[in-house]
Amino acid sequence: MDELIYFDYAATTPVRPEAAAAMRSALEHFGNPSSRYEYGRQAAQRVKEGREAVARALGCSPAEVYFTSCGTEGDNWALRRGVELNRRKGRHIVTTAIEHAAVLETCKDLERSGYEVTYLKPDRSGRVTVEQVAGALRPDTALVSMMLVNNETGVLLPVAEAVKAVKAKDRAVLFHTDAVQGFLKVPFSLCSTGADFITVSGHKIGAPKGVGALYVKKGIKLAPLLTGGGQEEGLRSGTEATGQIAAFAAAVRATSADAGRLEKTAAVKDYTLTQLKAALPRLEVISAGDVPHICAVTLPGYKSEVVVRVLGDKNVCISSGSACHKGRPSHVFAAMGLPKPWLDGALRLSFSPESTKEQADALVSALREAAGSLFTTLS
Ligand code: PLP
Repeated sequence: MDELIYFDYAATTPVRPEAAAAMRSALEHFGNPSSRYEYGRQAAQRVKEGREAVARALGCSPAEVYFTSCGTEGDNWALRRGVELNRRKGRHIVTTAIEHAAVLETCKDLERSGYEVTYLKPDRSGRVTVEQVAGALRPDTALVSMMLVNNETGVLLPVAEAVKAVKAKDRAVLFHTDAVQGFLKVPFSLCSTGADFITVSGHKIGAPKGVGALYVKKGIKLAPLLTGGGQEEGLRSGTEATGQIAAFAAAVRATSADAGRLEKTAAVKDYTLTQLKAALPRLEVISAGDVPHICAVTLPGYKSEVVVRVLGDKNVCISSGSACHKGRPSHVFAAMGLPKPWLDGALRLSFSPESTKEQADALVSALREAAGSLFTTLS
């Protein structure tokens, strides 16, 4: 098989060797953290150390970190239990039209059970402003959910400023941020945003799939997601996924230790965009991205699904938008009001500190070849 040219790190990342080693060790030492004997206590110690590592990276106390199975679970928990916690206040939710499906579909489900949701539209560049968020608040607003980094454009939303504005207007409104694409990819601690709930996911930072975490600010009494044996302080029962948690913590430690990772990632992204623009005069940049690892471009007149497939046949992996869309046009680019040919040809490229200029060159020539061999709907 040819070398894999992978530019889809926002979809998922390879498991870091440190994470795989930690997972293997935790699987070999298979004790149940709830068991009272030493073998169980050792497993509990691993989970404790894992929680401390994630808390350190988030900038909070370990007691504010609850392990989940994925980002989707964290989003569901925060939204569903958050509105329940504030039900006396009202049944209005504010979110953005560019959230991940984990938030949008949860909001739609809440609408079916009587909640009203305001979906804030982004501007042409994919931005949503603090004024829009503050302006959408109503006396019956229970919760605001605003993502930190959009997974298709790489735009950084002004979450810290929005939290401040929302709390200044109405302290009782709960604030959730889906920071799945921001965890360890932005140069500030996620808890410094002041959000009440923060969702993160392991597989975006070199942990295996099947683990994530929800930060719940101290003092907020969120109801349990799962009831049972009382694990995770009684809020998410179920025997802890010790292997995934150990791997998540190892990935967090290894990623945090790479101090130059943001600069390295940004340098390859900038290089790729420059080369793409030079090689493909038709190519337009939808968003260069505020974060180092995501940008979006378009080949107007081409079908991005076809381009992605042609590149995939050459082992070059990019995305036509969020991997979760499965062929449907991106709701994010549509909400931005892009013209149809731009929507049809939209491609997301995402990077890691391991991405190289040689791989970028391979991507550029594969894309140029694909564009040369495919028909366009524009003349
Ligand atoms: N939120 C955002 C912004 C994402 O990009 C993703 C995954 O792509 C998720 C939530 C869902 O995370 P998970 O795949 O861990 O459920």
